Amino acid sequence: MFNTNTINRFQQLETPFYYYDLDVLRKTLEACTGASAKYGFHVHYAMKANFNPKVLDTIQSFGLGADCVSGNEVKAAIEHGFGKEKVVFAGVGKSDKEINLALDADIFCFNAESVQELHIINDLAKAKNKKANIAIRINPNVDAHTHHFITTGLDENKFGINTWQLTDVADALRNCPNLQFLGIHFHIGSQITDMEVYKNLCTRINEIQDWFNDRGFEVKVLNTGGGLGVDYHNPDTNGVSDFESYFKVFKDFLNVKPGQEVHFELGRALVAQSAALISRVLYVKNGIKKNFLVLDAGMTELIRPMLYQAYHQIENLSRRESESLEVRKSESKELEVSHHSPLTTHYDVVGPICESTDCFRKDVELPQSFRGDLIAIRTSGAYGEVMASGYNLRDRVGSVYSE
Ligand SMILES: *Cc1c(COP(=O)(O)O)cnc(C)c1O
Repeated sequence: MFNTNTINRFQQLETPFYYYDLDVLRKTLEACTGASAKYGFHVHYAMKANFNPKVLDTIQSFGLGADCVSGNEVKAAIEHGFGKEKVVFAGVGKSDKEINLALDADIFCFNAESVQELHIINDLAKAKNKKANIAIRINPNVDAHTHHFITTGLDENKFGINTWQLTDVADALRNCPNLQFLGIHFHIGSQITDMEVYKNLCTRINEIQDWFNDRGFEVKVLNTGGGLGVDYHNPDTNGVSDFESYFKVFKDFLNVKPGQEVHFELGRALVAQSAALISRVLYVKNGIKKNFLVLDAGMTELIRPMLYQAYHQIENLSRRESESLEVRKSESKELEVSHHSPLTTHYDVVGPICESTDCFRKDVELPQSFRGDLIAIRTSGAYGEVMASGYNLRDRVGSVYSE
């Protein structure tokens, strides 16, 4: 991701910023669309993972649809050229304003998350003399085997409609003439790496579509949601998620009827590896028990470690093996001695924000580091820049592109 030219370019720039490697993004999109096309599967990009304009334009150019979770995301998707016939709108709390916006935009489908929401969409559609396409987001009670903070498909979660409420759903669909039932929707969590989880999801989807069929509802769309994970520990050696295995599970275990469409909503797996948060060391604080690297980036730029206890690989770009070799060749004999022993230190890598949780990771082994060193926090393309905040009245984080 970083060659010497890239790092030299970083030296000239004000930190912190997100660095987007558009080659990595395109390589990932090629792998995903190649694998899904084999089975005729439809992929929507879950926009909330990253709505940086260049990222959106690149993803749109690969022909993906958009999965939105707010009215503004619906608007942005359409502005960035995602066809309205490929826009889906999920979310447990869609406001009337957002529903109206999506109705006006004639999106492909609302993924409805409660019986009450069905009635509201029906009323608002009726007022516009329209019919809204509906998929029912169902909570399948499948354990995603991921961090409990990012599990969404268990009975205890706020998302979706539980299966014991399906009779009410069927009644509502029959009594709401301004709703057009399209199919069923699921999304059980994020950063899922165990394919067995998706196999379990397929089994539940098969049962649930039978339930609808038995009651006379034609299920045209099976939307399995997203959640495919990435390798946060090996961004260079395992930089593209295993889309082949992922789609094959659904091909093998989902009961797809003739003419039925299978939809996916991937966020993280498409964008996570394409960006790193680049910052500089402001201060090195050496204590008795702890050494701290205080960076000029914090939870206001990347909140994942603080919000979900997420792991990110952290690298000192100014002290890489290859960099220090070059220094050794070009600079004085004294430097040669100090660079010969690969001195490493354990640091708590922290941000400047006035919160104790503002720590990217504890006890990180890094080459001995100094004020001004460039630090990369890898795999930050998903749920990174989009969650940036202005807390402490911080500057807005910048974005820099590989081209
Ligand atoms: C967030 C979200 C996704 C994408 O999840 P990833 O883990 O980023 O793939 C898909 N569908 C819905 C409804 C979501 O809320």
